[in-house]
Amino acid sequence: MTRLIFLGPPGAGKGTQAKVIADSLNIPHISTGDILRQALQQQTPLGVKAQSYMDQGELVPDQLVQEMVQERLAQPDTNSGWILDGFPRTVKQAAFLGELLQEIKQNDERVINLDAPDDVVVTRLLGRGRKDDTEEVIRRRLEVYRSQTAPLIDYYSQQQKLLTVNGNQSQEEVTTELKQVIAS
Ligand code: ADP
Repeated sequence: MTRLIFLGPPGAGKGTQAKVIADSLNIPHISTGDILRQALQQQTPLGVKAQSYMDQGELVPDQLVQEMVQERLAQPDTNSGWILDGFPRTVKQAAFLGELLQEIKQNDERVINLDAPDDVVVTRLLGRGRKDDTEEVIRRRLEVYRSQTAPLIDYYSQQQKLLTVNGNQSQEEVTTELKQVIAS
């Protein structure tokens, strides 16, 4: 059973790699960013609430994403495993997830820290051209990552769940390294 959390700065390639690995293992790829963007597009109540935060590079309030993830992990397709991409992003979310996984007896998750230097991720994000990929918003997302999300590296390292993969390689090389790390 493969249960993985992908951690790393915006632009490290989490989304791309999570999708490739999830497809190869035939397990769902759960991206909170994708779920939120879809909600936004459909202007659901969740999307309406999340919009201003996302447009500014701020985190959507914990409570909203936590409910979203809890609901998603209750779907039957997650019984075969899952990859979480973009969640947790705060220590509070991580504590919530830890408790939830214990409750549903899925607490054998491993965390992959996909690492890449700031100059590399900024260049990648500027080339991506998503609506929230303007230079100012990117800078803010990186600040938020450093202050709110990067502490999770220590958090999961202390729990001995952390594996690190170098995201500053070609897409194929990252995939190869990821597959090795996951199989080990
Ligand atoms: P990136 O590809 O830049 O890492 P994502 O697609 O994962 O970005 O997320 C886009 C935006 O969605 C974030 O900037 C944030 O506003 C919101 N978001 C996604 N996941 C979370 C989360 N776990 N907690 C709070 N906000 C989130």
